[in-house]
Amino acid sequence: QQIQFADDMQEFTKFPTKTGRRSLSRSISQSSTDSYSSAASYTDSSDDEVSPREKQQTNSKGSSNFCVKNIKQAEFGRREIEIAEQDMSALISLRKRAQGEKPLAGAKIVGCTHITAQTAVLVETLCALGSQGYARAIPDPCIPMSRSRAVPRDAPVLPGVAVFAWKGESEDDFWWCIDRCVSVDGWQPNMILDDGGDLTHWVYKKYPSVFKKIRGIVEESVTGVHRLYQLSKAGKLCVPAMNVNDSVTKQKFDNLYCCRESILDGLKRTTDVMFGGKQVVVCGYGEVGKGCCAALKALGAIVYVTEIDPICALQACMDGFRVVKLSEVIRQVDVVITCTGNKNVVTREHLDRMKNSCIVCNMGHSNTEIDVTSLRTPELTWERVRSQVDHVIWPDGKRVVLLAEGRLLNLSCSTVPTFVLSITATTQALALIELYNAPEGRYKQDVYLLPKKMDEYVASLHLPSFDAHLTELTDDQAKYLGLNKNGPFKPNYY
Ligand code: NAD
Repeated sequence: QQIQFADDMQEFTKFPTKTGRRSLSRSISQSSTDSYSSAASYTDSSDDEVSPREKQQTNSKGSSNFCVKNIKQAEFGRREIEIAEQDMSALISLRKRAQGEKPLAGAKIVGCTHITAQTAVLVETLCALGSQGYARAIPDPCIPMSRSRAVPRDAPVLPGVAVFAWKGESEDDFWWCIDRCVSVDGWQPNMILDDGGDLTHWVYKKYPSVFKKIRGIVEESVTGVHRLYQLSKAGKLCVPAMNVNDSVTKQKFDNLYCCRESILDGLKRTTDVMFGGKQVVVCGYGEVGKGCCAALKALGAIVYVTEIDPICALQACMDGFRVVKLSEVIRQVDVVITCTGNKNVVTREHLDRMKNSCIVCNMGHSNTEIDVTSLRTPELTWERVRSQVDHVIWPDGKRVVLLAEGRLLNLSCSTVPTFVLSITATTQALALIELYNAPEGRYKQDVYLLPKKMDEYVASLHLPSFDAHLTELTDDQAKYLGLNKNGPFKPNYY
């Protein structure tokens, strides 16, 4: 099977494009911007007129080896980082615990990830542990505007790290930034921290010799991990890779708790809807669906669930939800939320049958779950009523409220809790440490999950935030359960 990657851009246009493909610009949502800019003066419209690629900027250390929108905003970015640090105490404590050993001494990390205040806390942790690096933001076609709160940062606030990233990058800018991080005179990376697989792909395509020095790849996203498994299957993966996406600390926290916290935020910021007594159907009762249902139930909504898997359907029943087919409730519900990871779960036929003002949104995969393309027909009128909110109007006047054009609601329209990001970031840091320090032969040219013991370590670093006190196994109990007193406490498949 052919390996699918994002559009290849072999050449950069000479002049940077000012207006990029909207789908590739990763910036905060309008709704976030509103509250954000009212709190502090980040927005400077004159910034938007000149592409960062055309600007001559120098940081307080006299370096120009970076490309951000406006380096003068570095102080503002620093404050955002300090706020993020308060809910990322696990990373701070990792810094303290491992600072003496410097487990990343000599590591040269090139990263492609969301450039946010939370990422900055991760990057500064990696630096404190000995590494130096290059970082840039990723575009994600499913997230038109995302969480780039602390974009204007670079060397003065992240010593030893050059950042190439800004809000509103075009696709050309995106690949240019990646290239600037990989092709650096006198500096060659030995670790890759990727989120989506584009950086890994770029190195494969343009600089394959870089892999001679690379000790490992740490990948965070579903798509990136999928690409790595494809490479591995095709026998083309030439270094070990760590799949952070499927680590238990990500699956059990990011999917469930993050969605439980952010679904209501996204819906309320975009629609101001009140949920008490509203009828909502949630498609898919996996981790994301469970989080969404729990949040909606707590507000007094009447929640229906659709499922294909009898086990998840039974869980929904036991949790007190009615399990139905979408077609059975589509005429009566006020809100439809997809969380399946599947495609075309909401079809044009469903959309035709929805009642007036029904809200439709996606919390699951990319932009595939709602058949939005089927709504681009001449008889339907689209009206943009707010940022991320479209009214699709039928000839008889019926309106369906489509959020974020079917992309991920929470990433497009709300913020993601810092604490959840801390769990993922800590997992990434430990995966880098593990791969970088692994004795030769421990990891082959394949894709691995983080060892369970390290997952447990990530969780344990977060427990002090809750003043949680773990019970220790007695020797007798450990023997009885056949466990080591210090873990791992669960089998690998947990
Ligand atoms: P999961 O596999 O645990 O759950 C998906 C559920 O959907 C399964 O139980 C499956 O049986 C069911 N399903 C599949 N097709 C269906 C259909 N046609 N109709 C009804 N049910 C169907 O996965 P998950 O962890 O809940 O993640 C779901 C999706 O959400 C994934 O694509 C994941 O990448 C994404 N995700 C989103 C966020 C976010 O922040 N919005 C966070 C984590 C994961």
